[in-house]
Amino acid sequence: MINRRKFLHLSALTAPLLAVKKSFASGMEASTKPIVVSTWKSGLPVNEAAWKILSANGRALDAVEAGARYMEDTIDCCVGLGGYPDRDGIVTLDSCIMDEHANCGAVAGIERIKHPVSVARKVMELTPHVILVGAGAQEFAVQNGFPLESGELSESAKKAYADWLKKSEYKPVINIENGKGNGPFAPQFFDDGSPNHDTMGLVALDASGNLSGAVTTSGMAFKVHGRVGDSPIIGAGLYVDNEVGAATSSGLGEEVIRICGTHLVVEFMRQGYSPENACKKAVERIVKRDPVKAKTLQVGFLALNKKGQHGAYAVQKGFEYSIKSGSETTTYASKFLI
Ligand code: ASP
Repeated sequence: MINRRKFLHLSALTAPLLAVKKSFASGMEASTKPIVVSTWKSGLPVNEAAWKILSANGRALDAVEAGARYMEDTIDCCVGLGGYPDRDGIVTLDSCIMDEHANCGAVAGIERIKHPVSVARKVMELTPHVILVGAGAQEFAVQNGFPLESGELSESAKKAYADWLKKSEYKPVINIENGKGNGPFAPQFFDDGSPNHDTMGLVALDASGNLSGAVTTSGMAFKVHGRVGDSPIIGAGLYVDNEVGAATSSGLGEEVIRICGTHLVVEFMRQGYSPENACKKAVERIVKRDPVKAKTLQVGFLALNKKGQHGAYAVQKGFEYSIKSGSETTTYASKFLI
């Protein structure tokens, strides 16, 4: 079993290519397609899983599903059944997927299912609906051959939950896991200063020039049972427009939902903004609404346009994203507003 800290440590050691680039110029030159970009440094192996498909001229949709599945298989604080539970001690998962035809599917608050992203894809492909929630989503998953897992917390989640229960304070903290922060919604860091990650969102452009995206998360740790964040909401946690580009988000979901964040980013790209500047404009929208609250929360947007240009922007320091193309395997530190 590999935990998040060990993973970060290992990935930091692997190669200079994998080093986090500190600054990132706007208007990044176009990468040759195919390309996949994903949230956080933990996106590096996620991208590798997607790359197996993209590099064999596979479809972006298959690539993003494979990447999300990789993360769901990994014991981690914030994605999949190993994730941290809600305040009732139950892990509930959110996921969505969207293809180049604006077909999309999502599940929210699903329990005891290992691969919510694949259930989301089944919702997209087998039903006339977009989102299934809770017990209905689980029932649909089981009917479609997904095994019902035990529901037992991972060892790290048990410990984190036991710690949280000591005070049982309801603070919906982003990146609460092992971190230290400056406010109730602030970005948190490991002791070694590396940013803690949360939701896995990834978007890809395939060799045929088609875009797709997927998001998977256990949502905010110790949330109210039933709470749904931005991650499974099309237009909030993920949006794909095959004429323009695609975007995904990580951070305090309520703030992203409020501005229809990723749809907004894609619309800014449609107006001609670079991916980075489109993300920046969406971040500005969040900060403008409540500049005081914004100082205590984190949201990061990540975007990829039809040319393969990519960029990100966050409210605060700490957001990262990883890319994989034929010429590059890199994690970038996102610029930030505050
Ligand atoms: N966006 C996710 C949510 O609000 C949380 C996260 O990114 O950590 O559920």
